[in-house]
Amino acid sequence: MSSTTPLATTTAPTRHHPPSIDRLTSLLDKPHSVHHLLQTHALLLRHNIHTHPILNFKLQRSYASFNRLDYSVALFRRTQNPTVFFWTSIINSHSKRGLHDLALTYYTEMVTNGVEPNCFTFSALLKSCPIIAGKALHCQTIKLEFDSHVYVRTGLVDVYARGGDVAAARLLFDTMPERSLVSLTTMITCYAKRGEVDEARALFDGMKERDVVCWNVMIDAYAQHGMPNEALLLFRRMVVEKVKPNGVTVLSLLSACGQIGALESGRWVHSYVENNGIRIDVQVGSALIDMYCKCGSWEDARLVFDRIGGKDVVVWNSMIVGYAIHGLSLEALELFSEMCRLGYQPTDITFIGVLNACAYAGLVSEGEAFFSSMKDEYGIEPKIEHYGCMVNLLSRAGKVEEAYEFVKSMKIEPDPVLWGTLLGACRLHGNISLGEKIAEYLVGQDLANSGTYILLSNIYAAAGNWDGVAKVRTLMRNSGIQKEPGCSSIEVNNKVHEFVAGDKKCPRSREVYAMIEEINGWLKAEGYTPQTETVLHDLAEREKAQSLEVHSEKLAIAFGLISTQPGTTLKIVKNLRVCSDCHAVTKLISKITGRKIVMRDRNRFHHFVNGSCSCGDYW
Ligand code: ZN
Ligand code: ZN
Repeated sequence: MSSTTPLATTTAPTRHHPPSIDRLTSLLDKPHSVHHLLQTHALLLRHNIHTHPILNFKLQRSYASFNRLDYSVALFRRTQNPTVFFWTSIINSHSKRGLHDLALTYYTEMVTNGVEPNCFTFSALLKSCPIIAGKALHCQTIKLEFDSHVYVRTGLVDVYARGGDVAAARLLFDTMPERSLVSLTTMITCYAKRGEVDEARALFDGMKERDVVCWNVMIDAYAQHGMPNEALLLFRRMVVEKVKPNGVTVLSLLSACGQIGALESGRWVHSYVENNGIRIDVQVGSALIDMYCKCGSWEDARLVFDRIGGKDVVVWNSMIVGYAIHGLSLEALELFSEMCRLGYQPTDITFIGVLNACAYAGLVSEGEAFFSSMKDEYGIEPKIEHYGCMVNLLSRAGKVEEAYEFVKSMKIEPDPVLWGTLLGACRLHGNISLGEKIAEYLVGQDLANSGTYILLSNIYAAAGNWDGVAKVRTLMRNSGIQKEPGCSSIEVNNKVHEFVAGDKKCPRSREVYAMIEEINGWLKAEGYTPQTETVLHDLAEREKAQSLEVHSEKLAIAFGLISTQPGTTLKIVKNLRVCSDCHAVTKLISKITGRKIVMRDRNRFHHFVNGSCSCGDYW
């Protein structure tokens, strides 16, 4: 019987001769679907062999693998005197799905029924259990002398590692009679999750053999902890050592490139994917779109988008959100209506893109309509991000008071990002009284961060209220809040270069500062005066101007100018909001040098071309 042939047409001739146990076993081992499994189950019932221990066991396990725990449990409950294998299998099915309470209940029942656990029982139990239960199980394994078994010990290392007790995990790991690849990977994962990448790397380097899972864990550790260059380097070594990367490897790498805006490296990963037959499925496709958008190239993102067959909503979302962060509102909204026309159901992420698009294009009434349709038409409860988009939408349109009323009427607690947006709007529209009111509220509620103080100070400065600026400075000093250091990066020749304000670590530092001097000359010729009011420190006017000159984004731009060919687009990533002086200076640099400069700050993208910015000076 072919595995795809309907059962009814082929079982009639074999009614008196049931298929061999071997044949049935293999059918149960690799069912194609629940439907297929049900057919095989019916066959067993018809021939009255469903209680055969091996067949019954495999039937239960296969139902569980299709997430039909209900069938699996029902069959288990009908099994006469289940052996330890049956118990272990049902425990495993539950703990694999994070149902550790039920897994433990089965374990207790099993022991009460006088069935002795084996090492696989413990390995199954330890899979998802919390550290408290894990400690109790650890005692049991010692008592029953299973604790040195490699599977059990690996499970124990994992329990302590997940529970955050790294010292215990490491002790158990170090005293293992034999280390398996899995136990090593478990320990590396433990360090990686905590950001202890050096510890993870030491173990990784000491391994005799490594599989793709292990490489992925180490690459992801670098990617997730702000060391994208190391992630890419390790990937190159993986390729040299002829370990075949898979989709997971690619996802980590693309995330790393996106985080730091490393477009050249992202392109390299993309071409590797294409040349090595790694399928661009919806996951890898979305990650590519996301990477290209974050690296400032929505054009490349669109090329990928158009080529993905069988798009799902995540792919559509990536492209819509991508357009929106670049301020391409029209494109984002067009794509949204096309998506709806094709019958895709939008998600909460879709609306973040759509609402942002409306905000950038000043489409207030459209944005409000989308916001109410979210809940009314699609049944999606707005999250804090959606409220943030609405505040942004109203503020950009100059409706600051309305935005404030909107925040007060929210059903959920506003977060610092949202208050920051509102304060930013007060600065831009010169609404001092509302700005003060909000800032006082935040300080009173202990919700103020350095951004709050800086925005408030900017509000006062913009209105020439120097007493206010001084007051904020005192407040900030008294509350012990320090400004988060700004950091900008630029990718040149596949390597990401980072700069903090006043940085002199760069080997080409001397040339960078010479370039800054040259830029200053250009600015002076253009009649530009530094916007010293944005400087918070207690400095004399000349010193203030100097501290502005060495802002990290300016250093990154200067580095870009001296190390790339004329005409090359510069792509800068900044960890904070770009300050208004740097924004104005970058506009002028783009005009004077004729270069396109793309800057990604904490909130959005700025495309500087020939003296103006895509954000329309609102950010
Ligand atoms: Zn700046
Ligand atoms: Zn801008």
